[in-house]
Amino acid sequence: MTVLTDKFGRPMKDLRISVIDRCNFRCTYCMPKEIFGRDFAFMPREQLLSFEEIERIAKLFVALGVKKIRLTGGEPLLRRDLPVLIEKLARIEGLEDIGLTTNGSLLSHMAQKLKDAGLKRVNVSLDALDETLFKSINDSGVGPDRVLKGIQKAKEAGLEVKVNMVVKKGMNDGEIVPMAAYFKEQGIQLRYIEFMDVGQSNGWNFSKVITKKEIFKELSKHFEMEAVDPAYVGEVAKRYRYSGTNTEVGFITSVSESFCSSCTRARIAADGKMYTCLFAGNGFDFRELLRSEKTDEEIKEEIRNIWSSRTDRYSDERTAESAKHKKKIEMSYIGG
Ligand code: SAM
Repeated sequence: MTVLTDKFGRPMKDLRISVIDRCNFRCTYCMPKEIFGRDFAFMPREQLLSFEEIERIAKLFVALGVKKIRLTGGEPLLRRDLPVLIEKLARIEGLEDIGLTTNGSLLSHMAQKLKDAGLKRVNVSLDALDETLFKSINDSGVGPDRVLKGIQKAKEAGLEVKVNMVVKKGMNDGEIVPMAAYFKEQGIQLRYIEFMDVGQSNGWNFSKVITKKEIFKELSKHFEMEAVDPAYVGEVAKRYRYSGTNTEVGFITSVSESFCSSCTRARIAADGKMYTCLFAGNGFDFRELLRSEKTDEEIKEEIRNIWSSRTDRYSDERTAESAKHKKKIEMSYIGG
């Protein structure tokens, strides 16, 4: 198979599929209640891609070189019968890996079903261990215990678990060290994510970002760490190992050390629009094609055209001004 590459020679290897735009959390930096309130118009069911449509488009992406699929949302575990979709995806020949990103609140009773369906790994988002603080961040009354129980069940089910923590200045700076200590003890990889300027509703600016350098400096006061070589070209997280252990800690430096040059990721939002960048403003409507008479070959041709003409490198080019003025879609819609 010839490798499908874009204008900068980046191959298309990963696909993120958002299966739903709804979430049961209202994290203040992602889906603030003032905007995503009771009257917010989420997508009606018929606008979401069906499992059959997701399976078909996933197969076409895999035929064009995608090796890994990650399911996300919104909160993907709110999508009814998600294990049925995972079973379908797990049968796709050539697909090497299926992962899921979740807030973990519904994971404890889903973990085994997800694993049995063919899921390999799960990334659980958790921004604080302090109960009051975590509840104030997710603004939905869910305490960290419920997420920690989900993590525990996922491990017991045999899923590979990583924890993602978004760090925002003034929000959870004080949790950087306690989170590291807790997950080091648990032998689970924690990854710190720099707060990004996705969407229009999170009031982002550079002053709210705590960079990898700052987090690393703070951690270094408490832990000895050694750098780990990337597992593959284009690995997003920069990883370190706590000395004398097998436990790693990672950093997703989307703001301070962007990684557009090695970005191999395509994205499909819950309504079937394809985006080639998390910071894109416009997507290409594959739902319309999937619901038309178009053949697989014709749809593949469309994917080829989009990827081969791709030139985005938003994070490399980000400035305070571009972050302020560019129209961007919400993280909850495109899927983080
Ligand atoms: N509901 C799922 C979850 O919580 O993991 C999946 C979707 S959520 C949008 C995916 C990830 O994006 C979460 O870890 C969330 O914290 C992160 N996220 C949301 N807004 C962000 C931002 N502005 N900067 C960095 N990460 C963000």
